[in-house]
Order: sequence, then C-alpha cells, then structure tokens
Amino acid sequence: MLRLVSGYVFGILVTLLLGSVTVQAQDSRAQPREVRVVTRVLPPMVVEREKSLTGFSIELMEAIANRMKFIPSYTVAPDVRSLLEEVRSGRVELGIAAVSITAGREAEFDFSQPILNSGLQIMTLGQVSAGGNPLLDMLRLLVSWTSLAWLGIGALLILIPAHIVWFLERRHPEGIVPTQKYFPGIFFALYWAAGTLVTQAESAPKHALARLVAVLWMFTGVVFVALYTAQLTATLTVQQIAGGINSPEDLAGKRVAVTAGSTAAMAVRELKANAIEVRQIGEAYDALQNRTVDAIVFDAPVLMYYAANEGKGRVQLVGAPFRKEDYGIVFPRGSSLRSEVNIALLSMREDGSYQRIYDRWFAASR
Ligand code: GLU
Repeated sequence: MLRLVSGYVFGILVTLLLGSVTVQAQDSRAQPREVRVVTRVLPPMVVEREKSLTGFSIELMEAIANRMKFIPSYTVAPDVRSLLEEVRSGRVELGIAAVSITAGREAEFDFSQPILNSGLQIMTLGQVSAGGNPLLDMLRLLVSWTSLAWLGIGALLILIPAHIVWFLERRHPEGIVPTQKYFPGIFFALYWAAGTLVTQAESAPKHALARLVAVLWMFTGVVFVALYTAQLTATLTVQQIAGGINSPEDLAGKRVAVTAGSTAAMAVRELKANAIEVRQIGEAYDALQNRTVDAIVFDAPVLMYYAANEGKGRVQLVGAPFRKEDYGIVFPRGSSLRSEVNIALLSMREDGSYQRIYDRWFAASR
C-alpha cells in the first residue's frame, strides 16, 4: 500500500516536473522578445498596404529581427519630429523609416550604420502639366503682341518700296506692275514688297532705279527677319525661364512643400524659400498637383519612387540630389541593441540579402 502511494506521488511529481519543463520550453519558443519600433509611412521606405506595413525599411527591419530573434511591434508616427520624440523618450527601442543621419541628431541619438544613401532633391510639375502643350505655346506666340507689333511694322515698311516700285515699273513694258492704274497696280507692288521682305523676290523689277530699290529692300528683309526671329526666341526663352525652377538657388521666394521637422525643411529655409510644412508626403504631392506650391524638396529615393509610379508623366525631378544624406536606424543614446543591429545589417550586406531587399524596392522597373 505504501509502495502504491509512493508510486503515485512519484508519478505525480514526475508529471508535474515534465509538464513545467515543456511549458517553459514552449514559452521560450513561442514568445521571442518584442522590440518596440517607431516608423512612419513614406513609400517606398515604408508602405501601408491593407493596414499592414511593408516597404524597404520594414523588410530590412524584419530581416534584422529574424537574425536577432526578436519581434518588432510597430507604432506609426505622423512626422519625423514625433518619430524622434518617441525614440528620445524611450517609449520605443528604435526608429526606422527614412531618418537621415545628421550632426544635430547624432548629438542626441545613436544611429546604426547607414541603411541607404539618400539626398535632397527638387520636384516640380512636369513640363506638359506646367505650361500646356508646345503647339499651343507656338500659337500663343504667333498672336502675341510682340509678334503682331512686328507684323504691323512690316506692313508699314512695305508701303515705301511698294510705291517706289509701282511708280517706276508701271510704265516699263516688261515691268512687274502689269497696269498703270494705282489700283490694282499697287497690289502687285505690295505683294512683291512683302514677298521680298520675308523670303526671296519672286520677280525682279526691270527699271534700273527700281532694281536698286529692290536690292536695298532685300537687305532690309534680311535684317528684318533676323530681328523678328531674335525677338520671338527671346520671348520664348523668357517665358520658359520665368517661374522656372532649374536649381536650388531658384527656390528663393518660391512656395516649397516639405515635411515638418525634416532635413528638407531646414534646407529650403536656408535657401530663402517659403517653406510650406505638411505632415504626410502625400499632402505635398497633392499641393504640387493643385499648384498651391511651386515645388517639393524631399528625399531623392522617395521622390524618385513617386515620379516613376503614381506621379509618372505629371511631375519631374529637377537635377540631381543637391545635398547627400544617409538613412540610419535611430536608437536612444547608449542603446544596447545598436551593435547587434549593426552586425546583422553588415552581414546582410555581405551575404546578399540586403541587395535582394534593395532590388525589390529600387530596381529600375519599379
Ligand atoms: N529624411 C528626412 C529626415 O530625416 C525624412 C523626413 C520625414 O520623415 O518626413 O528629415
């Protein structure tokens, strides 16, 4: 009996012990530690698709977490300022999105090795959306005041040689004016004078003096056409340059959309532009389409992605990035995670997995 009881007790003890061991084992398998990560939506770095997050930065984070055996739990900040605030306050353990490594931030935070080369670039509306189509531009130019003024001058000018030639030629047997009467004789002379002014003379006067006038008139024509062409070309160039943004210096005094607290916001203020701050980059794209701003200054990878996808044919990038920056993962000062994250990041560069993620989001076809 005693043996039976002690057998039971042993059995129960063994079961309890084994049970607790398996529960513990399950625990450590099912629940790797969770790491709080703050991010912000900025395609293609961070893309929101059906309530879940993806994008270059998120895939990179997932791969790092996989190597380090933790599970990222994301919160989404509305702008980079609040993203940094979350990191500073220690409410999250790291931040990843499109955070540029700057001297000012380095003094307050710890950054990982760079995760992507970036830089600031200018985006404006495409030529077609900005100024109508070239055919319309040409028609507008032809009926412009400049053009009409030159036609007026031409019309007045031809009266002089037309009258001289009419007068000299009308009696000449082979003259270019077939009748002695003023009307319609003068019309022939006017037609000749107009033709000689802008193209080649159709026929040459026969009277010696009329020929002299004709030669002088031809020279006048060369000068007239040259001046007229120069004037039209100048008008066209001025139209294209006026309001045009071709370099960062041209941003002075212009309305430029930037995201709040970004490196772009600082840069456009230094360029004396009128910085219009928005929270989401999508608002900047809308403002550009609605022409409430003249340009956007933002991170080149983000702008390039928009220009190649949603904004295709509607927007254009102006020049190359004018200020180089690198993105990094941001940690509170003294974070114990940083060195391990760096090792994961660098070994992903070495084994090609970084490149695969990069290609998925930045390959030329996207
Ligand atoms: N690269 C920019 C920065 O770090 C991104 C700004 C943003 O997230 O809006 O300032």
